Parts: sequence; C-alpha cells; structure tokens
Amino acid sequence: MSYQALYRKFRPQEFDDVKGQDHIVTTLKNQIKADRIGHAYLFCGTRGTGKTTIAKIFAKAVNCEHPADGSPCGECPTCKAIAAGTSMNVIEIDAASNNGVDNIRQIREEVEYRPTEGKYKVYIIDEVHMLSIGAFNALLKTLEEPPSYVIFILATTEAHKIPITILSRCQRYDFRRISIETITARLRELMEEEQITVEERALRYVAKAGDGSMRDALSLLDQCIAFYLGQELTYDKVLETLGAVDTEVFSRLLRQILEKNITGAIATIEELVVEGRELGQFVTDFTWYLRNLMLVQSSDDMEDVLDISSENLALLKEEAQMVDVDVLMRYIRIFSELGSQIKYAVQKRILIEIAVIKLCKPEMEKDYTSLVDRIDSLEKKLEKGVVVTAPGSARQGVAGNAESAASDAPKKELPKAIPEDIKQVIANWGGILSQLTGLTKTYLKMATKSLGANGALLLVYEDANAYTYVTENRSDCQDALKAAVAERIGKEIEIQVKLNDTGRSSDEIYPDLGQLIQIDIEEEDF
Ligand SMILES: [Zn+2]
Repeated sequence: MSYQALYRKFRPQEFDDVKGQDHIVTTLKNQIKADRIGHAYLFCGTRGTGKTTIAKIFAKAVNCEHPADGSPCGECPTCKAIAAGTSMNVIEIDAASNNGVDNIRQIREEVEYRPTEGKYKVYIIDEVHMLSIGAFNALLKTLEEPPSYVIFILATTEAHKIPITILSRCQRYDFRRISIETITARLRELMEEEQITVEERALRYVAKAGDGSMRDALSLLDQCIAFYLGQELTYDKVLETLGAVDTEVFSRLLRQILEKNITGAIATIEELVVEGRELGQFVTDFTWYLRNLMLVQSSDDMEDVLDISSENLALLKEEAQMVDVDVLMRYIRIFSELGSQIKYAVQKRILIEIAVIKLCKPEMEKDYTSLVDRIDSLEKKLEKGVVVTAPGSARQGVAGNAESAASDAPKKELPKAIPEDIKQVIANWGGILSQLTGLTKTYLKMATKSLGANGALLLVYEDANAYTYVTENRSDCQDALKAAVAERIGKEIEIQVKLNDTGRSSDEIYPDLGQLIQIDIEEEDF
C-alpha cells in the first residue's frame, strides 16, 4: 500500500484551504481583485505557517485565466502548470543553497525577458535571510526598478536579518503561528477524508506538538499513522510513537522537585532515557504542564484553555496548591530557557539534570551561572596562556597563573574609579534586595552589576526577558531599587540598564563590580 505524505497530499491549492492566516489571505485577494498587485512581498514567520504555500497560490492567482473572487480557478492550463511545477512563470529559489551574487545576477538577467505565457513572472525566494551581502545588493538593484511583469516574494523565518534597504521596498506580511484549535480542526478534517479513526485527544496532542506549525503537525501525524497503519490511532499510541510521556510522569517529577528529592528526580529522568523518550519533547511538554499549573492557580475557570481531561484537571488543581506562583514562574523560566538550549544540544540528558538540580536548589542557581562564567573566562585565558607557559608545567601552575592574571588586571585601576556610593550599594546588595519582592527581586538578582556613565550603577542582562521587565517596569522596578538603596545607605543613585546580546559573558565586557568589591572587602578584613 503506497502512502503519500499528508503534507504533500493536502497542500492547499487555493486560498480557502489555507488555515490560520486569514488576515494575509484577505489582503492578497483584495489586491488581486482590485488589480493593485505589488512587485515585492516579504513573508515572515515561523516554519510551517504557510509562507511558500500562499506564495504559490498567489502566483497562480495572478496568472490565472479565470480567477474568481481573487482566487485561482485551478482548472486552466496556467493553474495546472503551476500546480504541477512545470510553469516557466514561477521560479522557486532556495536561498540557503543559492546565496551568492552570481545566483542573483542570473535572476537579474532572466528578469529582462517577458513571460512567454501568462501575465507575471513570480520569483519565490525562500529563506531569503541566507543571502550574502553581495547578493542582497544585487537583489536590491532589481527591486529598485522591477519590470512591470515581475513579482518577487521573499520568504523568511528571520526577518531581522534582512537589510533595511530590502525591507523598505517590500510589502511585509507577518505569518502567525497557527493555533492548536485551528490545527486540530484541520487534522480532523483530513483524517475524515482519509477515513482514519483518531481519538480527539490524540489529534490535540499532535496539534500541540506542532507548536504553531501546520507542516510539523502534519508530519508528526504522518509518523503516527505510518506506525499504526490500518489501526485506530489512540492517544497512547501517539505518545508512544512521538516518544512523549504521560502526564503522570510530570506530576511525579514536580513532587520530587518540590520535596527537593534530587535523587528521585534524577531517577525519573533516567527512566525516560531508558524508555527512549524524546528528551526535547519532554522539556516542551513539562513546560506546558507548569504553565497549566500556573493558569489553574490564577483562575478557577480555565478548563477550556487548558485542554486536558477532567481527571487530570483535578490532579492539576491539587498540585497547583502545593506551589507558590513565584516558584512556578521560576520553574517555567528555567525550563523555557532549557527548551531553546536543548534543541541542538548533544548532551540533552545532562542539561535536563542541571535544570532539575537548579530547581531543587534555588540558592545554587546564581552560583552555578557565575561558576560557569568563571570557568569560561579561565578556559579562555588558559588557551592564551598555554603558549606563554612552558608546556611541561603542572596543570595547577597554569590555572594559578591565569587566576592571578585575572584578578591582577582589573584590581589595579578599577576600584579607584568606582564612586564611593556605588561601592556601598554593591557591598550592601544582599540587604538592598532583601527589601524587594517578586519579579523585581528575581530579575535584579540576575543582573551583572557594573559601572555606567557618570558614575551610575549599570545593570547588565544577558536574559532578554529580564532586561525587558526591568526597563519597561521602570516605576515598579528601578524606582523600587532606588528607594531600597536610599533606605539602606541613605544615598541616591542613578541606574542604567543594558542588554548584552553579544553572546559573550557580561563580565568579559563589563567589569563585574560584584566580584571586584567582594575582593576589596575580603582584603580589608585581613
Ligand atoms: Zn486558473
């Protein structure tokens, strides 16, 4: 029995079949009806949200011999040729593998020639952010004066990587992540058409695992169907195929974390590994589970949003009472950070174990990050130091050298430059923070403290969420900090906040006053 992938089989051929992007479809159809078609479009959005699908339907619609209500007829020779991929009028380019100047020059030469049939030549450039600078410049020249019969559709998952000169010449459309509801409905429709019996719960799980991408959801469903060909697809079978775990495991792990039972929690992770569960998926699912707990806590009437069975809901409510909302938010933060790290990590298991230990031991969290930072900078110095040091010297000796080099350099001049009141703030940092509460406290704790312009206290963040919170809640956060400082040391200070998104650790770029001042205090004690 031959089996065609759902994604290919049910790729939408007309606008009405496209799900979850109504705002874009309506605008494009209106343009076609009014004959006000642009020459350059930029389609941005996560993978699998329909960018190239809509681009192709659009290409059909502008060339169709009998368009109806802005949609292609699907019947005329032009529509059929485009659907079959044999039309000369629709040129698809994958910029990931054709990213050089020559590729774009070739397009510029081709663009000179009118289409032999149909009205428009449509160039669909996928993953356009992968183009080299030179290629972008070459493309820009064409975009500046496009022939009337040419349309460019640039598709990208990373719009921020596109030069502004290109952006300013395109009509931009932002594709939304598709809701679980919409994806579930589409999957149900397709399963009915395929005459495959699937449990509703199973469909919802697949839709959720698709994470806003119709394509991902469809290919996950494909995997499950292929595995149980000819059988009814149940929730348990889906979990089994996708290597996912049942909610019982989340509940157990949470209880272990709350009891600070590290051994038990590590054993639970061991169990997942032995059973061959997909650890990346586990992290995503556990994050959702924590999010559900938080929702249950914040309102009584969340049943619809939560998308779980009533017996699980009762369990969830019971568990929600065991955890503080602050604690939950910390868990969610750590696990969502883990979620983005783990995707490409080789040692997934170790990352999860570290995260679980972090959850069990909140006091360790800051020490752990600072430790990693220190090891990092030590390693970098070692790398440089190895050339200088005699190769035969003992490991300890090398580390010792690097360490003294690390503390020598800044100690000589920086302490002099630090204003007295900032020194006091740093020395009293723990006491100042103890006057604060909630997210303000959590996020201020995360900052690397350095010296800003005009003797201000500079808070540096590597975490974008923390940075946004501290800058956007100026009165709650910065003013509260100022008040706490005034209360503690009787002085007023200026505060500045910076985001360090260089990927380098903050104390490499900004002198970390926390470390410097501590050294001073220790020396004074002697
Ligand atoms: Zn047609």
